[in-house]
Amino acid sequence: MIQNEMPGKRPCASISFDDGFYSVLKNAYPLLKKEKLPFAVFASKTAVTLNQLWVSNIELNKTDRKYMEKIYEYSLAGKVDFGHYISDPVSSLRDHSVFDEGFRDVCLTGPPREKLYMDENDLNFLAEEGVLMGSHTCDHYVMSRCEQAEAERQISGNKAYLERLFGTEIKHFAFPFGKKQHYTEDVVRQVFAAGHKSVYTTSIANFTAGDSQRQNFLFPRIPLHNFTADRIMLYINRTFAGNMPLLKKLKPLVSGKR
Ligand SMILES: [Zn+2]
Repeated sequence: MIQNEMPGKRPCASISFDDGFYSVLKNAYPLLKKEKLPFAVFASKTAVTLNQLWVSNIELNKTDRKYMEKIYEYSLAGKVDFGHYISDPVSSLRDHSVFDEGFRDVCLTGPPREKLYMDENDLNFLAEEGVLMGSHTCDHYVMSRCEQAEAERQISGNKAYLERLFGTEIKHFAFPFGKKQHYTEDVVRQVFAAGHKSVYTTSIANFTAGDSQRQNFLFPRIPLHNFTADRIMLYINRTFAGNMPLLKKLKPLVSGKR
């Protein structure tokens, strides 16, 4: 699809997973392998090497008042009301924090007890199984909220890390969070200038082979989070209205009926 191999008018879709959660290896990979459905993983260095990202650290530690206060003081004091932050910390930080080198450090915790993210061995295993590997920035930062130098570290640093890990060129990049407000035109240019050939968002749309050849084209995706099979089908139907061959393949897989 990406290399302009989209076959005629037949509808196509691809499956990708952001962040490199361990559940992709544990749950999704066996199912997708069985169905012979290829997929891609967009990984972040800090998740792979330290089994944590700021987003999951907040989710896991939101009842630890001291930890939450430390992050508030660093990121949001004077910008967002503390009560509002505590009621929805990930959104507050995503929408209002500055994402600099210090932010990563202030959010770091000791290694989480549970294995949340795939490590280097897991990713190498999937890469050898033919899973396409892409980049998702080192620290899952909101790229529209980074200074240019930090954006560069996040984009090129993660690409270089993954290239060392897999010994191959990393050509694909997905923006963390991925909505329009989470990147800027300048950052899009930076991502392509770093050598990525295709870049992914979470804007919901369909597109044609011709679209994907346009300069600085951003691939849309349908973001799915803990949805029921029915809700997944609703999203897919809405996006690909009328393209039934795809649904026949997906429906038994997502509903677990076989
Ligand atoms: Zn992500």
